[in-house]
Amino acid sequence: MTKKLTTTAGNPIADNQNSQTAGARGPVLMQDYQLLEKLAHQNRERIPERVVHAKGWGAHGTFTVTHDISKYTKASIFAEIGKETPMICRFSTVAGEMGAADNERDVRGFALKFYTEEGNWDLVGNNTPVFFLRDPYKFPDFIHTQKRHPKTNMRSGTAMWDYWGQSPEALHQVTILMSDRGCPKTPMNMNGYGSHTYAFINADNERVWVKFHFKTQQGHAFYTNAESNEKIGQTREGYQEALFGSIEAGDFPKWDVKIQIMTESQADATAYNPFDLTKVWPHGDFPLIDVGVMELNRNPENYFAEVETCAYSPSNIVPGIGFSPDKVLQSRIFSYADAHRYRIGTHYEQLPVNQPKCPMNHYHKDGAMNVLGQVSGATDAYYEPNSFGGATETPSYAEPSLPLSGDADRYNHRDGNDDYGQPRALHDLMSDEQRARLYSNTAEAMHGVSDEIIDVALGHYDQISQAYGDGIRAARAALLA
Ligand code: NDP
Repeated sequence: MTKKLTTTAGNPIADNQNSQTAGARGPVLMQDYQLLEKLAHQNRERIPERVVHAKGWGAHGTFTVTHDISKYTKASIFAEIGKETPMICRFSTVAGEMGAADNERDVRGFALKFYTEEGNWDLVGNNTPVFFLRDPYKFPDFIHTQKRHPKTNMRSGTAMWDYWGQSPEALHQVTILMSDRGCPKTPMNMNGYGSHTYAFINADNERVWVKFHFKTQQGHAFYTNAESNEKIGQTREGYQEALFGSIEAGDFPKWDVKIQIMTESQADATAYNPFDLTKVWPHGDFPLIDVGVMELNRNPENYFAEVETCAYSPSNIVPGIGFSPDKVLQSRIFSYADAHRYRIGTHYEQLPVNQPKCPMNHYHKDGAMNVLGQVSGATDAYYEPNSFGGATETPSYAEPSLPLSGDADRYNHRDGNDDYGQPRALHDLMSDEQRARLYSNTAEAMHGVSDEIIDVALGHYDQISQAYGDGIRAARAALLA
């Protein structure tokens, strides 16, 4: 039987083809509420796009444990080999707006939401293990250099290189961005990294530090600048087509999930700050440990409801996993949830895709989108403490205390920091062909920027490696010839 068309209030609609007018040629009547409702809803079909990571592609999937890591963490998601946890993933580019072409050279977001029995665990990472900055104070400044110039309304190479040239800690990430890994063919052809250092807490309430890695089983594949230009000329939706098409065809992409572990005493002894987002932990010192497999196996039924309004935040953490002193992680704990309150609405966690799959009880009240009403577990318990059976705290979930010390001050984050050693290690492990593409991609990105600004950046490249600086110079000369 055909379903009856109604208004959002359920009132049946007699005619969905013709507006109500005064005479066949006449003006429309104000009382044609169905017309007003359709127009009003259309006006509200967009929510503000994300300031960063606006263009995204997502899918549902499963995380399966293959190895026992319970000695490190009591997190229920890792409880036993074979355990499966439903999850959802959103990949994205960072700089482009919602209509941007998928195959542009950019860092890719790699955001994961795991629906565990103890609430949602969000790991909001990238396809790179490091980031452009280590102090969140610089995040708005950095992002402004990636976005549009206030007057020209175009992206500005000058802004990017002016900032990077004065921020040597960025060049590790810039090296990855300008390498083959900066332009993966599809979302399936890239690794994911939690990037930040997190804490693991085990059943004995002991803490170790952890980094998360997601290694593609599909293999790395990339486009050169020329190939990506050609691809973008053919389609702006390369990633959506690849991810959606692959899952629709039953070819489910997978990633091997691995961790690195560092003890608290090891963290005191590393030459670098293990909570510095511009640094990796070398595999030779902290080898990868197998954990499980992530598979994406179900396309969303509705992109807007399941991808656009899916709200990931590093603040969503579960017992057995904790934060670390990483300054950028600390700031994201605030800024991601705050972005969703602004972008989607106060009670954005009540949307089906964001709701935990376990009982949820809290005392937040009223406000936009409070569709579930009172959720503290009892009608009269709308404050806490109460005598009406409302939800109460569970002290056994308390984390072990973390000793912190030091005078409150603004410490120069560049003091005593080697910003050149790790990009040098990456440069040196590349093949000659990879290095040639790194140099030419970098030179192309510098095109049109003044020599004064580029010379400052090249001074830092020389300190990473003279061969690196000279390689870029030669590629620039070839480009300008
Ligand atoms: P390893 O030789 O053990 O590891 C090198 C890593 O580099 C591998 O994980 C490899 O990924 C990855 N890699 C290869 N090409 C690129 C590229 N163009 N962009 C980014 N990553 C790439 O050495 P170390 O652990 O001592 O690290 C050396 C350098 O490698 C680091 O300074 C860092 O720049 C980079 N790196 C290190 C990672 C880490 O967690 N230790 C992670 C990623 C990069 P794959 O195995 O998938 O090929």
